[in-house]
Amino acid sequence: MKNSFLFKPLQRKKTIKIMVGNIAVGGDAPVSVQTMTKTDTCDIKGTIKQIQSVASAGCDIIRVAVPDRRAAQAIKEIKKEITIPLVADIHFDYRLAISSLEAGADAIRINPGNIGSREKIKEVVKAAVEHKSVIRIGVNSGSLEKDIMEKHKGVEAEALVESALRHIQLMEDMNFKNIKISVKASDPLTTVQAYKLLSEKTRYPLHVGVTEAGTFLPGVIRSSVAIGVLLWHGIGDTIRVSLTDTPEREVRAGIEILRALGLRKDRGGSIISCPTCGRVQVDVISIAGKVEELLEKYYRENPKMPRPRVAVMGCVVNGPGEAKEADIALAGGKGKFALYVRGKLIKTVEEKQAINALMKEVGRWGK
Ligand code: SF4
Repeated sequence: MKNSFLFKPLQRKKTIKIMVGNIAVGGDAPVSVQTMTKTDTCDIKGTIKQIQSVASAGCDIIRVAVPDRRAAQAIKEIKKEITIPLVADIHFDYRLAISSLEAGADAIRINPGNIGSREKIKEVVKAAVEHKSVIRIGVNSGSLEKDIMEKHKGVEAEALVESALRHIQLMEDMNFKNIKISVKASDPLTTVQAYKLLSEKTRYPLHVGVTEAGTFLPGVIRSSVAIGVLLWHGIGDTIRVSLTDTPEREVRAGIEILRALGLRKDRGGSIISCPTCGRVQVDVISIAGKVEELLEKYYRENPKMPRPRVAVMGCVVNGPGEAKEADIALAGGKGKFALYVRGKLIKTVEEKQAINALMKEVGRWGK
Protein backbone atom coordinates (compact mmCIF):
# COMPACT_ATOMS: atom_id res chain seq x y z
CA MET A 1 0.00 0.00 0.00
CA LYS A 2 1.37 3.39 -1.06
CA ASN A 3 0.77 5.16 2.25
CA SER A 4 1.29 2.17 4.47
CA PHE A 5 3.72 4.15 6.68
CA LEU A 6 0.69 6.08 7.90
CA PHE A 7 -0.66 2.92 9.43
CA LYS A 8 2.29 2.03 11.57
CA PRO A 9 2.99 3.42 15.02
CA LEU A 10 5.55 6.20 14.96
CA GLN A 11 9.09 5.36 15.88
CA ARG A 12 9.48 4.74 19.59
CA LYS A 13 10.95 7.68 21.43
CA LYS A 14 14.44 6.91 22.67
CA THR A 15 14.43 6.76 26.43
CA ILE A 16 17.06 5.71 28.95
CA LYS A 17 17.00 1.99 29.71
CA ILE A 18 16.74 1.03 33.36
CA MET A 19 16.37 -2.37 35.03
CA VAL A 20 13.46 -3.11 37.34
CA GLY A 21 14.72 -6.38 38.77
CA ASN A 22 15.29 -8.56 35.73
CA ILE A 23 12.99 -6.56 33.43
CA ALA A 24 14.41 -3.81 31.25
CA VAL A 25 12.24 -0.71 30.94
CA GLY A 26 12.93 1.95 28.31
CA GLY A 27 15.43 2.10 25.47
CA ASP A 28 14.86 -0.76 23.05
CA ALA A 29 13.21 -3.03 25.65
CA PRO A 30 9.74 -4.27 24.67
CA VAL A 31 6.90 -2.30 26.25
CA SER A 32 6.10 -4.17 29.46
CA VAL A 33 2.75 -4.75 31.17
CA GLN A 34 2.19 -4.09 34.86
CA THR A 35 -0.61 -4.52 37.31
CA MET A 36 -1.15 -4.13 41.01
CA THR A 37 -2.27 -6.77 43.50
CA LYS A 38 -5.68 -6.25 45.08
CA THR A 39 -5.04 -8.41 48.13
CA ASP A 40 -4.00 -7.14 51.55
CA THR A 41 -0.19 -7.22 51.22
CA CYS A 42 0.04 -8.62 54.77
CA ASP A 43 -1.90 -11.65 53.52
CA ILE A 44 1.34 -13.12 52.23
CA LYS A 45 -0.14 -16.36 50.89
CA GLY A 46 -3.01 -14.64 49.07
CA THR A 47 -0.70 -12.00 47.61
CA ILE A 48 1.80 -14.59 46.34
CA LYS A 49 -1.06 -16.55 44.76
CA GLN A 50 -2.33 -13.46 42.97
CA ILE A 51 1.14 -12.50 41.75
CA GLN A 52 1.74 -15.99 40.39
CA SER A 53 -1.62 -15.85 38.65
CA VAL A 54 -0.95 -12.50 36.93
CA ALA A 55 2.58 -13.58 36.05
CA SER A 56 1.22 -16.59 34.22
CA ALA A 57 -1.28 -14.29 32.48
CA GLY A 58 1.68 -12.32 31.05
CA CYS A 59 2.33 -9.62 33.65
CA ASP A 60 5.95 -8.39 33.60
CA ILE A 61 6.08 -6.27 36.77
CA ILE A 62 3.87 -6.34 39.86
CA ARG A 63 3.16 -3.54 42.31
CA VAL A 64 1.90 -4.03 45.85
CA ALA A 65 0.41 -1.45 48.22
CA VAL A 66 2.47 -0.70 51.31
CA PRO A 67 0.18 1.15 53.71
CA ASP A 68 2.09 0.20 56.89
CA ARG A 69 5.22 -1.37 58.31
CA ARG A 70 3.82 -4.89 58.35
CA ALA A 71 3.09 -4.68 54.64
CA ALA A 72 6.67 -3.50 53.99
CA GLN A 73 8.01 -6.46 55.95
CA ALA A 74 5.74 -8.88 54.08
CA ILE A 75 7.66 -8.05 50.89
CA LYS A 76 10.57 -10.13 52.12
CA GLU A 77 8.47 -13.31 52.21
CA ILE A 78 6.56 -12.49 49.02
CA LYS A 79 9.78 -11.97 47.05
CA LYS A 80 10.94 -15.50 47.88
CA GLU A 81 8.02 -17.03 46.00
CA ILE A 82 7.68 -14.88 42.89
CA THR A 83 9.67 -14.57 39.68
CA ILE A 84 8.60 -11.13 38.42
CA PRO A 85 9.99 -7.86 39.82
CA LEU A 86 8.08 -6.20 42.62
CA VAL A 87 7.37 -2.49 43.07
CA ALA A 88 6.30 -1.16 46.48
CA ASP A 89 3.65 1.56 46.32
CA ILE A 90 4.22 4.20 48.96
CA HIS A 91 2.17 7.17 50.05
CA PHE A 92 2.74 9.63 52.90
CA ASP A 93 5.46 7.88 54.91
CA TYR A 94 9.00 7.89 53.52
CA ARG A 95 10.06 5.34 56.16
CA LEU A 96 7.84 2.74 54.48
CA ALA A 97 9.80 3.33 51.27
CA ILE A 98 13.04 2.62 53.10
CA SER A 99 11.62 -0.49 54.81
CA SER A 100 10.32 -1.79 51.46
CA LEU A 101 13.73 -1.35 49.87
CA GLU A 102 15.34 -3.15 52.79
CA ALA A 103 12.81 -5.97 52.35
CA GLY A 104 13.93 -6.45 48.73
CA ALA A 105 11.55 -4.37 46.58
CA ASP A 106 13.03 -3.99 43.09
CA ALA A 107 11.52 -0.53 42.84
CA ILE A 108 9.39 1.84 44.82
CA ARG A 109 6.71 4.17 43.59
CA ILE A 110 6.51 7.41 45.50
CA ASN A 111 4.05 10.17 45.05
CA PRO A 112 5.83 13.53 45.10
CA GLY A 113 2.67 15.24 46.26
CA ASN A 114 2.57 13.45 49.58
CA ILE A 115 5.96 12.00 50.45
CA GLY A 116 7.27 15.01 52.31
CA SER A 117 10.37 17.17 52.56
CA ARG A 118 13.61 17.16 50.58
CA GLU A 119 15.41 15.64 53.56
CA LYS A 120 13.02 12.69 53.64
CA ILE A 121 13.40 12.11 49.91
CA LYS A 122 17.16 12.21 50.39
CA GLU A 123 16.90 9.32 52.84
CA VAL A 124 14.79 7.33 50.38
CA VAL A 125 17.27 7.98 47.56
CA LYS A 126 20.12 6.85 49.80
CA ALA A 127 18.33 3.53 50.43
CA ALA A 128 17.53 3.10 46.71
CA VAL A 129 21.23 3.56 45.85
CA GLU A 130 22.22 1.08 48.52
CA HIS A 131 19.78 -1.55 47.24
CA LYS A 132 20.28 -0.74 43.53
CA SER A 133 16.57 -0.10 43.15
CA VAL A 134 14.50 2.07 40.88
CA ILE A 135 12.28 4.93 41.99
CA ARG A 136 9.13 5.72 40.06
CA ILE A 137 8.07 9.30 40.45
CA GLY A 138 4.34 8.70 40.29
CA VAL A 139 2.53 12.00 39.83
CA ASN A 140 -1.20 11.63 40.17
CA SER A 141 -3.98 14.11 39.42
CA GLY A 142 -5.60 13.32 42.75
CA SER A 143 -2.64 14.43 44.86
CA LEU A 144 -0.76 17.31 43.27
CA GLU A 145 1.26 19.71 45.40
CA LYS A 146 -0.74 22.66 46.66
CA ASP A 147 1.42 25.39 45.13
CA ILE A 148 1.31 23.75 41.70
CA MET A 149 -2.47 23.36 41.90
CA GLU A 150 -2.80 27.04 42.76
CA LYS A 151 -0.45 28.16 40.00
CA HIS A 152 -2.26 26.15 37.30
CA LYS A 153 -5.72 26.65 38.81
CA GLY A 154 -6.48 22.93 38.95
CA VAL A 155 -5.35 19.67 37.42
CA GLU A 156 -3.97 20.62 34.05
CA ALA A 157 -1.52 18.56 32.03
CA GLU A 158 1.04 21.33 32.64
CA ALA A 159 0.56 20.98 36.40
CA LEU A 160 1.23 17.23 36.31
CA VAL A 161 4.34 17.79 34.22
CA GLU A 162 5.62 20.60 36.44
CA SER A 163 5.31 18.34 39.48
CA ALA A 164 7.19 15.54 37.69
CA LEU A 165 9.96 17.85 36.47
CA ARG A 166 10.39 19.31 39.93
CA HIS A 167 10.99 15.84 41.34
CA ILE A 168 13.22 14.74 38.50
CA GLN A 169 15.35 17.78 39.30
CA LEU A 170 15.37 16.88 42.97
CA MET A 171 16.57 13.35 42.21
CA GLU A 172 19.18 14.61 39.76
CA ASP A 173 20.45 17.08 42.36
CA MET A 174 21.05 14.01 44.53
CA ASN A 175 22.79 12.39 41.58
CA PHE A 176 20.11 9.71 41.30
CA LYS A 177 19.04 8.74 37.78
CA ASN A 178 17.60 5.28 38.18
CA ILE A 179 14.09 6.61 37.73
CA LYS A 180 10.95 6.26 35.68
CA ILE A 181 8.08 8.67 35.59
CA SER A 182 4.30 8.68 35.39
CA VAL A 183 1.87 11.58 35.15
CA LYS A 184 -1.57 10.01 35.35
CA ALA A 185 -4.90 11.81 35.25
CA SER A 186 -8.29 10.15 35.41
CA ASP A 187 -9.25 11.97 32.22
CA PRO A 188 -7.76 10.23 29.14
CA LEU A 189 -7.19 13.44 27.17
CA THR A 190 -5.40 15.20 30.03
CA THR A 191 -3.31 12.05 30.43
CA VAL A 192 -2.33 12.07 26.74
CA GLN A 193 -1.47 15.76 26.84
CA ALA A 194 0.59 15.39 30.01
CA TYR A 195 2.68 12.48 28.69
CA LYS A 196 3.20 14.21 25.35
CA LEU A 197 4.46 17.32 27.12
CA LEU A 198 6.61 15.30 29.50
CA SER A 199 8.18 13.19 26.76
CA GLU A 200 9.43 16.39 25.11
CA LYS A 201 11.19 17.35 28.31
CA THR A 202 12.73 14.13 29.59
CA ARG A 203 14.42 10.98 28.41
CA TYR A 204 13.62 8.92 31.49
CA PRO A 205 11.40 5.92 30.75
CA LEU A 206 7.68 6.54 31.08
CA HIS A 207 5.14 4.39 32.88
CA VAL A 208 1.88 5.13 31.06
CA GLY A 209 -1.69 4.72 32.27
CA VAL A 210 -4.95 6.43 33.12
CA THR A 211 -5.56 6.55 36.85
CA GLU A 212 -8.86 5.40 38.31
CA ALA A 213 -10.06 4.50 34.83
CA GLY A 214 -13.27 2.87 36.06
CA THR A 215 -15.12 -0.42 35.80
CA PHE A 216 -14.28 -2.99 33.15
CA LEU A 217 -15.81 -1.67 29.93
CA PRO A 218 -15.38 2.11 30.35
CA GLY A 219 -12.02 1.51 32.03
CA VAL A 220 -10.68 -0.58 29.16
CA ILE A 221 -11.93 1.92 26.60
CA ARG A 222 -10.54 4.99 28.37
CA SER A 223 -7.22 3.26 28.95
CA SER A 224 -7.03 1.91 25.40
CA VAL A 225 -7.68 5.34 23.92
CA ALA A 226 -5.07 7.13 26.06
CA ILE A 227 -2.41 4.40 26.10
CA GLY A 228 -3.07 3.59 22.44
CA VAL A 229 -2.67 7.21 21.28
CA LEU A 230 0.53 7.59 23.30
CA LEU A 231 2.08 4.34 22.11
CA TRP A 232 1.10 5.25 18.57
CA HIS A 233 3.19 8.38 18.99
CA GLY A 234 6.12 6.35 20.28
CA ILE A 235 5.55 7.34 23.91
CA GLY A 236 5.49 4.76 26.72
CA ASP A 237 7.89 2.12 27.98
CA THR A 238 5.68 0.25 30.43
CA ILE A 239 1.90 0.34 30.79
CA ARG A 240 -0.77 -0.34 33.37
CA VAL A 241 -4.48 -0.52 32.72
CA SER A 242 -6.19 0.32 36.04
CA LEU A 243 -9.62 -1.22 36.34
CA THR A 244 -12.17 -1.72 39.05
CA ASP A 245 -11.79 -5.39 38.24
CA THR A 246 -9.33 -8.26 38.67
CA PRO A 247 -5.61 -7.76 38.07
CA GLU A 248 -5.71 -10.64 35.56
CA ARG A 249 -8.16 -8.62 33.45
CA GLU A 250 -5.92 -5.55 33.74
CA VAL A 251 -3.03 -7.60 32.37
CA ARG A 252 -5.17 -9.06 29.62
CA ALA A 253 -6.31 -5.56 28.58
CA GLY A 254 -2.71 -4.30 28.58
CA ILE A 255 -1.57 -7.17 26.41
CA GLU A 256 -4.43 -6.65 23.98
CA ILE A 257 -3.54 -2.97 23.60
CA LEU A 258 0.05 -3.91 22.76
CA ARG A 259 -1.09 -6.64 20.38
CA ALA A 260 -3.54 -4.33 18.62
CA LEU A 261 -0.66 -1.94 17.90
CA GLY A 262 1.58 -4.77 16.76
CA LEU A 263 3.97 -4.11 19.65
CA ARG A 264 3.96 -7.50 21.43
CA LYS A 265 3.25 -10.58 19.37
CA ASP A 266 4.78 -12.89 21.95
CA ARG A 267 1.85 -12.52 24.31
CA GLY A 268 -1.73 -13.82 24.27
CA GLY A 269 -3.58 -15.63 21.53
CA SER A 270 -4.77 -14.11 18.30
CA ILE A 271 -8.44 -14.76 17.69
CA ILE A 272 -10.93 -13.12 15.40
CA SER A 273 -14.61 -13.98 15.59
CA CYS A 274 -17.72 -12.65 13.93
CA PRO A 275 -20.34 -10.74 15.94
CA THR A 276 -23.01 -13.28 14.78
CA CYS A 277 -26.35 -12.26 13.26
CA GLY A 278 -29.65 -13.76 12.15
CA ARG A 279 -27.86 -16.15 9.80
CA VAL A 280 -25.96 -18.03 12.47
CA GLN A 281 -26.91 -21.67 13.11
CA VAL A 282 -24.15 -22.60 15.57
CA ASP A 283 -23.28 -21.20 19.00
CA VAL A 284 -20.43 -18.94 17.91
CA ILE A 285 -20.50 -16.77 21.04
CA SER A 286 -19.79 -19.58 23.48
CA ILE A 287 -17.46 -21.44 21.10
CA ALA A 288 -15.35 -18.31 20.45
CA GLY A 289 -15.25 -17.59 24.21
CA LYS A 290 -14.14 -21.13 24.98
CA VAL A 291 -11.49 -21.08 22.22
CA GLU A 292 -10.16 -17.80 23.62
CA GLU A 293 -9.96 -19.31 27.11
CA LEU A 294 -8.22 -22.46 25.86
CA LEU A 295 -5.74 -20.45 23.79
CA GLU A 296 -4.86 -18.33 26.81
CA LYS A 297 -4.25 -21.45 28.87
CA TYR A 298 -2.28 -23.09 26.08
CA TYR A 299 0.09 -20.13 25.66
CA ARG A 300 0.44 -19.77 29.40
CA GLU A 301 1.65 -23.35 29.55
CA ASN A 302 3.56 -23.22 26.26
CA PRO A 303 4.81 -19.62 25.97
CA LYS A 304 7.31 -20.45 23.24
CA MET A 305 4.83 -22.04 20.83
CA PRO A 306 4.01 -20.12 17.62
CA ARG A 307 0.79 -18.14 17.67
CA PRO A 308 -1.32 -18.75 14.55
CA ARG A 309 -4.18 -16.40 13.74
CA VAL A 310 -7.34 -18.25 14.74
CA ALA A 311 -10.86 -17.39 13.50
CA VAL A 312 -14.31 -18.51 14.59
CA MET A 313 -16.93 -17.43 12.05
CA GLY A 314 -20.69 -17.98 12.10
CA CYS A 315 -21.73 -18.77 8.56
CA VAL A 316 -21.02 -19.06 4.88
CA VAL A 317 -21.45 -15.32 4.09
CA ASN A 318 -18.15 -14.01 5.47
CA GLY A 319 -17.10 -17.22 7.15
CA PRO A 320 -15.11 -19.00 4.46
CA GLY A 321 -13.52 -15.74 3.23
CA GLU A 322 -12.35 -14.73 6.71
CA ALA A 323 -11.48 -18.30 7.50
CA LYS A 324 -9.11 -18.34 4.56
CA GLU A 325 -7.41 -15.19 5.83
CA ALA A 326 -6.70 -16.81 9.18
CA ASP A 327 -4.16 -19.57 9.78
CA ILE A 328 -6.66 -21.88 11.42
CA ALA A 329 -10.40 -21.25 11.24
CA LEU A 330 -13.84 -22.55 11.88
CA ALA A 331 -16.73 -21.42 9.65
CA GLY A 332 -20.22 -22.39 10.78
CA GLY A 333 -23.03 -24.14 8.92
CA LYS A 334 -26.17 -25.84 10.22
CA GLY A 335 -24.98 -27.47 13.46
CA LYS A 336 -21.56 -28.02 11.88
CA PHE A 337 -18.30 -26.22 11.24
CA ALA A 338 -15.91 -26.30 8.33
CA LEU A 339 -12.30 -26.39 9.53
CA TYR A 340 -9.72 -24.49 7.48
CA VAL A 341 -5.96 -24.70 7.90
CA ARG A 342 -3.74 -22.30 5.92
CA GLY A 343 -6.79 -21.33 3.88
CA LYS A 344 -7.60 -24.89 2.84
CA LEU A 345 -10.75 -26.73 3.83
CA ILE A 346 -9.55 -29.72 5.87
CA LYS A 347 -12.80 -31.25 7.05
CA THR A 348 -16.29 -30.64 8.35
CA VAL A 349 -16.96 -31.37 12.01
CA GLU A 350 -20.03 -31.53 14.22
CA GLU A 351 -20.51 -28.44 16.42
CA LYS A 352 -19.61 -30.48 19.52
CA GLN A 353 -16.26 -31.53 18.09
CA ALA A 354 -15.34 -28.13 16.66
CA ILE A 355 -13.30 -26.81 19.61
CA ASN A 356 -11.25 -29.98 19.94
CA ALA A 357 -10.57 -30.11 16.22
CA LEU A 358 -9.41 -26.49 16.20
CA MET A 359 -7.21 -26.82 19.29
CA LYS A 360 -5.59 -29.93 17.82
CA GLU A 361 -4.51 -27.87 14.81
CA VAL A 362 -3.20 -25.10 17.11
CA GLY A 363 -1.08 -27.74 18.88
CA ARG A 364 0.24 -28.97 15.53
CA TRP A 365 1.00 -25.50 14.21
CA GLY A 366 4.66 -24.90 13.52
CA LYS A 367 5.63 -28.52 14.23
FE1 SF4 B 1 -23.54 -13.14 10.46
FE2 SF4 B 1 -22.22 -14.98 9.09
FE3 SF4 B 1 -21.19 -12.52 9.29
FE4 SF4 B 1 -21.21 -14.12 11.40
S1 SF4 B 1 -20.10 -14.49 9.49
S2 SF4 B 1 -21.89 -11.98 11.35
S3 SF4 B 1 -23.13 -15.24 11.12
S4 SF4 B 1 -23.08 -13.08 8.25
